[in-house]
Amino acid sequence: MEESKVREEATTIGIDLGTTYSCVAVWNRNRIEIIPNEQGNRTTPSCVAFLDEERLIGDGAKNQVAMNPANTVFDGKGLIGRRFSDSKVQEDMKLWPFKVTRGRGDIPTVVVTYKGEEKQFLAEEISSMILGKMKEIAEAYLGNSVKSAVITVPAYFNDSQRQATKDAGTIAGLNIVRMINEPTAAAIAYGLDNKADIIGKVNVLIFDLGGGTFDVSLLTIEEGGVFEVKAVGGDTHLGGEDFDNRMVDHCVREFNRKWNKDLTGNQRAFGRLRFACEKVKRILSSATQSSIELDCLHDGIDFSMKFTRAKFEGLNMESFEECIQIVEKCLNDANIEKSSVDEIILVGGSTRIPKIQSMLQEFFDGKQLCKSVNPDEAVAYGAAVMAAKLTDVGDESFRDLMLSDVTPLSLGVESTRDRKQMHVVIPRNTLIPTKKSKTFVTSRDNQTSVRISVYQGERAKSTDNHLLGKFGIRGIPLAPRRTLRINVCLEIDVNGILTVTAKILSTGQTQKLVINNENWRLSKEMIENMIKDAEKYKLEDQEFMMKMNAYNALEKCVYNMRTKLNEYNHVNGSELQSESIKEIKNAIADTTKWLEDNRVAPVEEFQRKKLLLEFACVSLI
Ligand code: AMP
Repeated sequence: MEESKVREEATTIGIDLGTTYSCVAVWNRNRIEIIPNEQGNRTTPSCVAFLDEERLIGDGAKNQVAMNPANTVFDGKGLIGRRFSDSKVQEDMKLWPFKVTRGRGDIPTVVVTYKGEEKQFLAEEISSMILGKMKEIAEAYLGNSVKSAVITVPAYFNDSQRQATKDAGTIAGLNIVRMINEPTAAAIAYGLDNKADIIGKVNVLIFDLGGGTFDVSLLTIEEGGVFEVKAVGGDTHLGGEDFDNRMVDHCVREFNRKWNKDLTGNQRAFGRLRFACEKVKRILSSATQSSIELDCLHDGIDFSMKFTRAKFEGLNMESFEECIQIVEKCLNDANIEKSSVDEIILVGGSTRIPKIQSMLQEFFDGKQLCKSVNPDEAVAYGAAVMAAKLTDVGDESFRDLMLSDVTPLSLGVESTRDRKQMHVVIPRNTLIPTKKSKTFVTSRDNQTSVRISVYQGERAKSTDNHLLGKFGIRGIPLAPRRTLRINVCLEIDVNGILTVTAKILSTGQTQKLVINNENWRLSKEMIENMIKDAEKYKLEDQEFMMKMNAYNALEKCVYNMRTKLNEYNHVNGSELQSESIKEIKNAIADTTKWLEDNRVAPVEEFQRKKLLLEFACVSLI
């Protein structure tokens, strides 16, 4: 094979598909290189514009947003895997100058005018356009075609969001060899840069404040490059764009106050203001003041506004404080004292804001923040390291990096439909990839089918959790209750994709669960709310568990007594039964009937019935 062909096949790029900016990197000339785009910029706006003649992606799209706001789409990542009715989509839509409508199955659809016609796009398609652009940037730089990539996704992305991102990569003509979590990628970049400093186990806090989202992750890095995600936290409504919006709102108020004119409805003015505010915000990270100058902003009025760093900080202080509270919560979740955090890594463009850095440093009692990893590039850098590792190129030193991420919520199955007890198979914060199984028994005599319902969440009662999907096995052999064993296996692969397999152990009959994408559409807020709910309803759940345990104890007692009676009959013959054996038989039958009729009785009732049965069967025991 020719050398260039070998190289072409071997080139796997690392892409950080960001909310506001994306970045691509590659192992080249014996090092990781961040690839600049055609404008020479090392990050590219995750932005697509539709015009009469053409489609623009990246800087070109962002630069014309003020002129063409309704047809310039950004934040595809915020839409991917979400329902139209999702509160975040509804809230964000108010700020987006482009139109999003409810598509089939409550899927949000972006509506734009392209080449004079109305066109509809899914978030996957918008993301695929950005991934395609990053591919092109890499190809232009490397001078050869690129066919595969490692893509990063937020740690909290569910399977649907991961799958949709993978689909976006496929549409862009890329073979996605691995998807890794953003904090893990940043930690890989950090581990490589600072490998020599890592002696023994190190606790690392990744503080990732980007354009649209805030993510905190607590990782441990062990000697030998073993990464473990201990806890994740964050807020999907917190990021640089919120800071821009607050500046925009301030300008709109000032405009109104000064000229008694309302800018609301003038989308072009809003677009121009947002662009100018973002620029000023960036300047305020190095200068203490800057200003906005916009000619003919609205009704022929020129607008100018001075911003000091103090003013900017004042407008956003609540958000900055919220970031620190989220860090505190993440530490609590990971059960790690802040004094035990060895390194604090800054990721995301918004971590350049001096006030954020100083507040974070103050929270960690003056500890130096780690800024050696470029905040805009760390994630792509780590993804490129991973790509090199997977394609077996690159330095020996990172080939043996092991990676692990965690499940954000527990995954489990319902025991039986009527009892609704959640049996956790994979507990929350389990390292992935993982494969765990549990064996269940049938709950009724001569049951002909079993139904497996898979849930995600922390509540004791299955129906209080999020139903991921259900499936069944029909035609199972007839058997007394509790005798037929079903093994249920939950497996999450390296890309975070869940496969559920149920197997009847005696016959080998097997069914796999094909989870509908819709069922996986759990947003980060939902995950946060479910964890909060589990805390809130702890007492209620404890009561439910007590009831379940009492129910199970009684059912088990009935089963044991019936087995003992059968054994007795087997030894002594069932025809000639004494009065006391008949009484035992009746007591078992009565209790069985009572159990069927009283599935939700108070705990004491179950306990009393169990005592009575044991009493009635005392001669068997
Ligand atoms: P990311 O999503 O990580 O690429 O972060 C992009 C966000 O970082 C955008 O909201 C930018 O406005 C913001 N950003 C980039 N550079 C700076 C800076 N120097 N000061 C403040 N914010 C910045």
